[in-house]
Formats: sequence, structure tokens, C-alpha cells
Amino acid sequence: MSLVQITGFINGEFLPVSDQIQPVYDPGNTTNQIGTISNTNLNDVENAIKTAHQAFQKWKDTSIQERKELLKKSAELIFQQKDCLKELLVTEHGGMLWEAETDFYLGSGVMSMYAQAPDDLLKPKEIAEETGWIRIHKRPKGVISAIVPWNMPIVLTMMKLGPLLLAGNTVVLKPSPFAALALTQLLAKVAEIFPQGVINVVHGDADVGNLMTSHPLVRKVAFTGGTSTGAAVMASAAQSIKDITLELGGNDAAIILADADFKSLLPKLLKGVFTRSGQICFAVKRIYVPKDKLDLYFELLCEEVSKYKVGHGLDAEANFGPLNNKKQWSIVQKFIENAKSSDQCEVRELGQKLNSEQWENGYYILPHVVKTLNNALEIVQQEQFGPIIPLIGYETVDQAIEYANDNEQGLCSSVWSTNIEHAYEIAQKIEAGSTFINSHSFDSLQLGMPFGGIKQSGIGRELDISETLKSYLEPHSIRLIK
Ligand code: NAD
Repeated sequence: MSLVQITGFINGEFLPVSDQIQPVYDPGNTTNQIGTISNTNLNDVENAIKTAHQAFQKWKDTSIQERKELLKKSAELIFQQKDCLKELLVTEHGGMLWEAETDFYLGSGVMSMYAQAPDDLLKPKEIAEETGWIRIHKRPKGVISAIVPWNMPIVLTMMKLGPLLLAGNTVVLKPSPFAALALTQLLAKVAEIFPQGVINVVHGDADVGNLMTSHPLVRKVAFTGGTSTGAAVMASAAQSIKDITLELGGNDAAIILADADFKSLLPKLLKGVFTRSGQICFAVKRIYVPKDKLDLYFELLCEEVSKYKVGHGLDAEANFGPLNNKKQWSIVQKFIENAKSSDQCEVRELGQKLNSEQWENGYYILPHVVKTLNNALEIVQQEQFGPIIPLIGYETVDQAIEYANDNEQGLCSSVWSTNIEHAYEIAQKIEAGSTFINSHSFDSLQLGMPFGGIKQSGIGRELDISETLKSYLEPHSIRLIK
């Protein structure tokens, strides 16, 4: 296969290849180079921001109808591009083919949702007064810097692009260096639907990101990524008082109540744990079970997980693929080593290797299940972002809630029970942006339902049409006093 070579693009034109070329390897077979990214030099990042600022002067005055039409076309295009780009996405980010397809489906769905947003959310509101009136206009902010991670790059990008474009803003977007190829090819086509300069793409890592979050012409930063990077983004944006949306890491708890039928809920629960090899911000990352059932449930869980097959994302036999990159692989290996050397837990390595001769050349890790009574263990307290799951015993439901909340992350969570009212009562006590009852995976999300974290999992919400649009608009109050 020939190498996929990408550069950034500004004002509808691809940039010439820069002197900073980054090779891209398949994380499932690192002997296979699949492409190159030409990183954008800082002068060009500056140009991209200025271009987006210039394009904003016209784009902000386009009609709501026109913007919605273009979003609708983008939704159709993303759907069509799925078949051409899904295999490329798998070979650069390591997921399964169905996971890549889901990324495109969801991305298209998000664009389509914003294409159907009620016009009222964007129209001025009038308040009549005896002495005159107040008219509150909703204005776009200007240039938005959008920065996305590698795990679900298509939908995470569209969750920003849809609302920011509908609101009348323009954008400079930076994909992650670990999943830039398919996304850039897709964005170049989406950008053609819009006037030149409305969508611009740059490449690089922290240096490029830093300019995007500090440049005075940028009015808002929409960021998805790790919590520590989010803190750097927030600090950088603070220098020029930019608005921010931060979708950060999660350490989601699933609380299994005593009346739940653990055996029958296992397939659903495990989907929430191991999809994308655990590399999903709202994957189940801690499972709390009644202490007297800990041993039994641990065995049941291990029995199911031992059936898992791990291999390349294009191998239809595999349940999940490799980790995305060496750094993430090393972090997860360290978590496993530390858990194995602790006397506070039992660790089991399970599952089967597909094409084991390929494992030397890929970031593969077999699924691991951990049993413990210690909520303070590193493997419980830290976001693993890999195929390892701790099962923690609790004495009382109050203790389960306390354990779930004893964490700096608060993205999603779940409660599992046959008694829905009881589950609902507990759900309300959990510190998180979302709590699902009897599910905890992609199936739990619904377009239009606010998505985002509390505490160190982030600031702001995406996917909620009204709240999210609002975050890309500025009210401008005009008052007449006769
Ligand atoms: P990351 O924070 O390493 O990188 C995210 C993006 O930020 C990349 O594009 C990267 O190049 C860029 N970046 C790095 N340094 C920067 C800087 N100083 N300034 C600006 N940008 C910079 O995260 P990752 O490893 O790509 O993704 C994994 C993390 O993302 C996990 O913690 C996961 O939970 C989180 N995540 C959160 C959500 C959510 O919606 N809450 C969704 C997906 C992933």
C-alpha cells in the first residue's frame, strides 16, 4: 500500500510539505509504515488563525438556513466517506473495524443533529418594556481552536465542528498526531463544502497546541484530551481570557447492587469495559460489587474475559485491538506491574493472543482483571485507559457511593439493579456528568443528552443542542429607552 501523506490545509489549500515530517506506523504492526504527517510550522499556524479570522467576517453573517444546509451536506459526506476511510483509521489508531465504522456513524449523526437544531436558539430574543425594548442578539465568538485526541477522532471532532459552525464561528483544528490521517482526509472534503477559510487544519503536538490556545485572535478553545493537557490548555487560554470547553479524562465507576443478576448483565458491562481496548474516556474503569459476592463475581468475570481474543483491528476474529501508542502501552504495563506487585489485590491475565508472532511488533496487551478490597489502590484511583479492570468489594451501598465519589474524575458512571427506583436514587448521589442505569457503553449515549464531566473531568457540555450552541455564542444586549 502506498504511504498516505498529509499536510495541514489553510483557506482551502493544502500546505507544502514542511521540514518536520512524522512517520505514522500501524500500532498493530509497527513494522508497517502507513503514512506521514507534515507538521505545520508556527508561521503557518499563525496564518491559519488569521485566515480563519478573515473568513469569520463573512461567515458570521450567513443565514442560519445556509449553515444548516452545509451541515446536512457534511453529515451525508461523512457517512459516504466511512467505507473509503475506515480501514485507514483502523491501521492508524488500532481499533476494530466496527469501532471505526461507529466513529463515522456517530460523527455523521452529530452533524445531522445540528443541521436540524431549532432556529430559535440562534435568533434574537425581544423583551418589550413600557419605555422601549431589549433585544438580545446571539453572536458567534470568532475563531475557535479545536484540539482532539486519537481514540474516536471523527465523532469527537464533529461534536465541536457541528455547533461551532452552526453558531457562525470559524475554526482552526488540530488532530492528534496518533490519528491524523483519516481525519485530515475527511476534513479536507468537509471543508470544501464551506466557504474557504471557514475550516482550517494544522498538525503538530504541544508546540502547535500552545500557539492555538494562546493566540489573541482565538476566542475559544474546544479541547478533548487528558486532564493534565487540559490544565495546560486552561492556563494558556487564561492569558487572553478565552472561553474554554474541556472534555477530559474519566475514571468511571459501575456500581452493581446486591439484587442485580451479575451473570446476565456481564456482556453489557464488559462491552463498556473493553471496547476500544478500554481507551474510551467514559469506559467502565472501576466495578463495585457487594463484598460477600466479590469472589463469585470475580470468577464469573474472569470466565467471560478468558474467552476474549486480542489481535489486529482488521482481524474479524478479534474482540479488541492493540493500544494506540507506545506511551499508552507503557503506562498500562506499569499499572499491571504495580498491581501484580501489590499484596492488596489479585491480578489475572486472561484471553488469547491472535497471531502471537505479531505481538512483538504491536502494542498488544491481554485483558487483565483485578480483585481488591482497597479503594485507594493505584489501579482503582487512576484512569487506566487500557484493557485492565479492577473489581472492588463494598460493605454497604453507602460505602459503594463513597468509593465511587472518592475520585478527582467525574465523567460518567452507572448503577446496575433490577430495582429501577432504587438504582435511580443512588444515581442521583453519584458525582458525575452522566449516570446510566443498567448500561454503560456507546449504547448509553443519546444525541441531545448533555455529555461532559465534573471535577477534573472537564468544563462544559457537548451533544446537548441548546447548551452546546450557547457555549459558542455571545449574547449581545441592545436596549432602547424611549
Ligand atoms: P492528550 O491530552 O495527550 O492529547 C489530546 C490532544 O491535545 C492531542 O491533539 C495533542 O496533540 C494535544 N496537545 C498535547 N499537548 C498540548 C498542549 N500543551 N496544548 C494544546 N494541545 C496539546 O490526550 P490523548 O492521549 O490524545 O487522549 C487520551 C485522553 O483523552 C484520555 O485521558 C481520555 O480520557 C481523554 N478523552 C476524553 C474525552 C471526553 O469527551 N471527556 C474523549 C476522549 C478522550
